[in-house]
Amino acid sequence: MRISIYSPGLLCLVLICNPIYSQQQLDKRIIIRADTILDGKGNTLQNTRIVVEGDKIVAIDPKAGPIDYDLRGLTVLPGWIDAHAHITWSFGKDGKNVGAGETTPEAAYRSAANAWATLMAGFTTIQSVGSPTDLPLRDAIARGALAGPRVLTAVEPLTGRGEQTGTPEEIRAFIRKQKQAGADVIKIFASQSIRQGGAMTLSQEQLNAACDEAKKQGLRTLVHAYKEAVRAASMAGCTQVEHGTLATDDDLKLLAKNGTYLDPQAGLVIENYLLNKERYLGTPGYTEEGFAAMIKILPMNHDLVQRASKTRGLKIVFGTDAVAGSHGRNAEEFIDRVRDGGVDPTVA
Ligand SMILES: [Zn+2]
Repeated sequence: MRISIYSPGLLCLVLICNPIYSQQQLDKRIIIRADTILDGKGNTLQNTRIVVEGDKIVAIDPKAGPIDYDLRGLTVLPGWIDAHAHITWSFGKDGKNVGAGETTPEAAYRSAANAWATLMAGFTTIQSVGSPTDLPLRDAIARGALAGPRVLTAVEPLTGRGEQTGTPEEIRAFIRKQKQAGADVIKIFASQSIRQGGAMTLSQEQLNAACDEAKKQGLRTLVHAYKEAVRAASMAGCTQVEHGTLATDDDLKLLAKNGTYLDPQAGLVIENYLLNKERYLGTPGYTEEGFAAMIKILPMNHDLVQRASKTRGLKIVFGTDAVAGSHGRNAEEFIDRVRDGGVDPTVA
């Protein structure tokens, strides 16, 4: 079932999107026949053909021929985007979580395997937020040396530590440093982990400086935020709120009004932690208390997605927070959004 659903997308990927293929192959006109096409704009097209030239779809034409790929009986959909993943997080030799912290050859191969699994699951772009270990992986995929989704990375995140984080000027310098290191986006932690209570870790002034400087550098900002930090991130003009657990209805309305994107997680990230509890427990940041908290947080996240999806004008994106154990399972988050978050399947 899984294979038959995803394989048309993969075929498209391998043929069209993978830079390993030569220019001559890329310039070739390719015609794909499909029974059902989800066009990515909410429309479903039936019994037609997709005409591709180079890396662009140039026409949808039921009469186009000759057919290169006959996908009768299958559904074709655009490559998916995961707005929040940690592509280099993996389990180490002893089977335990090592996060993105290892730089051994084994860790590099595991990162490459994560990228492959993600691509094969139908995801053609991910935002990895973030670790400096993303950089060589991003660049190898971009060169066509490795198969994987297009990777956008935040390099080193800005981790809020109250006053210790630095003055607004120091924070601006940190943002510029990430840009120089090759960051595509900026990741900011404005709250503690929700497992530790989710209190705010940056002042409004610090957050303002971070998001304003990123904007000046032409970079979007993704802010890890719970509770009151959600509102603060929107007021600071940041681009996107990650997680958002315990945001109030008024906070969600403010995001909608300011055009701040919300990236809530309906389930996969916590389900994956619970599934792999023994592999996480005892590694930095993962305690028995933290796991007990996760069980309580899961329904709060369902509630957030339910409320967010009913907030008029709120722009919601798809992000899984994929860590070790969930690379390649990213699409399960769609199921969580529909089943537990009450989101309409097509909207999801
Ligand atoms: Zn994350």
